Amino acid sequence: MVGINSVIGDGMLNELNSIDSLQANLDKFSDLPAEAVIKQDVLREGLSFSQDSLRIATGYKPKDYFIFSFDLIPIKEMQYDENLRAPEEIKISGGTRQLRDTVISVRVNPESPYKVDLKEGKLQLLCSNNPIAEVCYHPVPDFYNRPLQSGKTMGEIAPVIEWGYLIYLTVYRLCQYFNKEEQCQFCDLNKNYKQQRQAGRAYTGVKSVDEIVEALLWILEDDKETITEAITITGGAILKPLRGEDEVTFYSKYANAIRENFGNRWILKSVVQAFEQSDVQRLHDSGFNIYHPNFEVWDKDLFPRVCPGKERFIGRDGWIKRVVESAEIFGPSNVIPNFVGGVEMNRNFGFSEIEPAIASTSEGLDFFMSKGIMPRFTTWCPEPYAKLGPQPAPPLEYFCRLLQEFKSCFHRHKLPKPKGYGPTGPGNAVFSVSAFMDVL
Ligand code: SF4
Repeated sequence: MVGINSVIGDGMLNELNSIDSLQANLDKFSDLPAEAVIKQDVLREGLSFSQDSLRIATGYKPKDYFIFSFDLIPIKEMQYDENLRAPEEIKISGGTRQLRDTVISVRVNPESPYKVDLKEGKLQLLCSNNPIAEVCYHPVPDFYNRPLQSGKTMGEIAPVIEWGYLIYLTVYRLCQYFNKEEQCQFCDLNKNYKQQRQAGRAYTGVKSVDEIVEALLWILEDDKETITEAITITGGAILKPLRGEDEVTFYSKYANAIRENFGNRWILKSVVQAFEQSDVQRLHDSGFNIYHPNFEVWDKDLFPRVCPGKERFIGRDGWIKRVVESAEIFGPSNVIPNFVGGVEMNRNFGFSEIEPAIASTSEGLDFFMSKGIMPRFTTWCPEPYAKLGPQPAPPLEYFCRLLQEFKSCFHRHKLPKPKGYGPTGPGNAVFSVSAFMDVL
């Protein structure tokens, strides 16, 4: 079942060149919005930028490297300083397919068939030089220009993503699973920290509660239209006390401070480990609304290999049990374990065929959704400094099948739309690292 073979997929689709493969998948998966199919392809391939498009990006919101690198090459190989100049996200629309607005996270890859370029006076998305859609960048929010006492930028302390909807607070930029080389194999958190520091970015290892509150005060003052609706509080796993605090105590204090200073202004989401109920209760009581004990990969043979630290400290069965039990505290629809979509097809030891991979992940989706829990998925980015190493992404066909299964499972279990993710559907969704919200 799990082989070392290359990931070629089931049919001929994956042997076509990029534009033909895109069209063939659009034809084959005509039940999915075209926007979702294109978005998944851009996420899996990454994006390149012409010099003109990078010049225009100056003055728009840049990539803040809010947690991982989410790039397909290291910074030292970026010829045009894309790490400083590329936009956080693009929004595509129009083109010959008359696409509705679609927000896509930027993953730098100069070798990608997808390129943003200036053509006929407009920014356009090209696939193998064929125009696909018009492109716009996200303006810099007003509060990004506010000064912080520390001299750090707002984009460092309280960056926004998802076209301004989500404030993303990585308050601890390291993960202790790296200490014994037991990090999740797709994760480059600590390595990205190192490369960002080497590249001169003021990348704060541990953000203080005070600097977070200071930054949020500016956002509160400037965000008159209430574009920011949710806050994610996250960071690496804490296995040994960090400055005297365990993981729950550490992350909960930020939620406590936000609730004390700002009441219920924002939905608070906590992306941390799976905990026993007493700790989950503490997280909930500190003010979090949503709990993300990320599951990463469902398959029982792959989980220990992909997540060796999680396997050793908690174990797959323990993780599942804790996710299920946490629903009693947060409410099932507020428990949102993430899957790293596609990592089960990694070339090192993953599934070599699409349908067995889909069957495995669908089993996990169905397990959680049958209990009212709302799993979601992001799109695996094979980052060069992750243990799995750089490699081609799984085929677009895999992601289209995953969207089909996700949507069908969601409707079969009659789940409510996920809270803290903004609007759903093509033309509306802002979640930018997979198209799961675009198909609901
Ligand atoms: S728990 Fe896994 S995914 Fe999360 S930061 Fe640590 S190694 Fe990365």
